[in-house]
Amino acid sequence: MENHKFSPESLMMSHGYKPELSEGAIKCPIFQTSTFVFKTAEEGKAFFEIAYGIREKDPTEELGLIYSRINNPNLEILENRLCLWDKADDCAVFESGMSAISTVLLEFLKPGDLLVYSNPVYGGTDHFINHFLPSIGVSVLGIQPNQSADEVMAMIEKSGKAASLAMIYMETPANPTNDLIDIQSFADLAKHYSTSERKVLTAVDNTYMGPLWQHPLEHGADLVLYSATKYIGGHSDLIAGAVLGNQEVMNRVKVLRTFLGNMVSPNTAWMLMRSLETLKVRMDKQTLGAQEVAAYLDNHPKIESVNYLGLLKEGSIQYDIYKKQCSAPGAMITLNVKGGEHEAFQFLNNLKLVKLAVSLGGTESLAQHPDTMTHAGVDKEQKKLMNITSKMVRLSVGVEDAKDLIWDLSQALDKVTVEEKEFSHS
Ligand SMILES: *Cc1c(COP(=O)(O)O)cnc(C)c1O
Repeated sequence: MENHKFSPESLMMSHGYKPELSEGAIKCPIFQTSTFVFKTAEEGKAFFEIAYGIREKDPTEELGLIYSRINNPNLEILENRLCLWDKADDCAVFESGMSAISTVLLEFLKPGDLLVYSNPVYGGTDHFINHFLPSIGVSVLGIQPNQSADEVMAMIEKSGKAASLAMIYMETPANPTNDLIDIQSFADLAKHYSTSERKVLTAVDNTYMGPLWQHPLEHGADLVLYSATKYIGGHSDLIAGAVLGNQEVMNRVKVLRTFLGNMVSPNTAWMLMRSLETLKVRMDKQTLGAQEVAAYLDNHPKIESVNYLGLLKEGSIQYDIYKKQCSAPGAMITLNVKGGEHEAFQFLNNLKLVKLAVSLGGTESLAQHPDTMTHAGVDKEQKKLMNITSKMVRLSVGVEDAKDLIWDLSQALDKVTVEEKEFSHS
């Protein structure tokens, strides 16, 4: 019994926190402080030697607290807890998902490098990859979700930049279409292009599934990224991000974070710790509700199609990827209303319980129109290739009673008047 290993959900209330260091408080206080008092000058010197990599840490030595841009108890405990879900060596928390993503891309991509990335990706990521990275001399090569690793290898060869491939970046399931990418096959492709001097890294944005239902590190990824604004925060009341990986890559991520200064605040870290206590119950409830909602929408006469992982058909490539790397279908549903923007807007404007807002993963259900909202900035031709259409609505299912959600969706769909263009004689 002594070796019993607790599940992450059982450790979210206590892991990494010592009440005796905080007057016995059961909950970790907010360490709302910019700096920490050293006991002696010698101690301050030793802490800086470790923090700045001037010497290696002794096996028994712990990096002491210095200054809240470098480390803070709220951040450290939160990071330790997040490591449990993904079985990562280390984690760094950021002030937003975008700061986590941009810090990783800036640290591991240098002028002349090639980045291969999956489409579609979150709108902000798409902008950073297509508008910022090229401005610092990084070449980018976008791939479509149905392309196999072999096809992508052919594209890399054709680009003439195979020798400068530095990273493969994936978002799976992809926002907003729910397309899946086979993490392992792209991690293998990265290995194929790695040399003894230069490892090609794979990074996965796991915001839609993680940290519960998909663990990219187990499938060969080097870095896992999150918008912690979404499921991890889970209450639509904060903005944050996280990166996880092995010690070597995380040391680099943390050093750049120290100098960009884009770590999360102690207050937000504290809110995230509170959120982590209910992460499993929230996400379990959300995926159960989403399965009921998706089944309802799938049979609705005013809906053309529903993209939901729980509705993937056995025998398809997407289904095989799903079985291989996801443990639940999640709570993100993309539906295509019959008609176009007009009909999609009628549907959105008539929702009562579900709120019309971007973002996802929170306790309340949210719906939005990717084409004109989250993905408004994505190139039009690209959007066509990725099937982001004017009739598409993205729905994030919250923790409400699924019966109430279905009632709401049903009454809003009743108000959609599908224009019968095909039948008009004029
Ligand atoms: C929201 C989101 C982001 C960006 O995160 P922020 O916390 O808003 O900066 C990145 N990736 C995905 C998949 C997202 O949904």
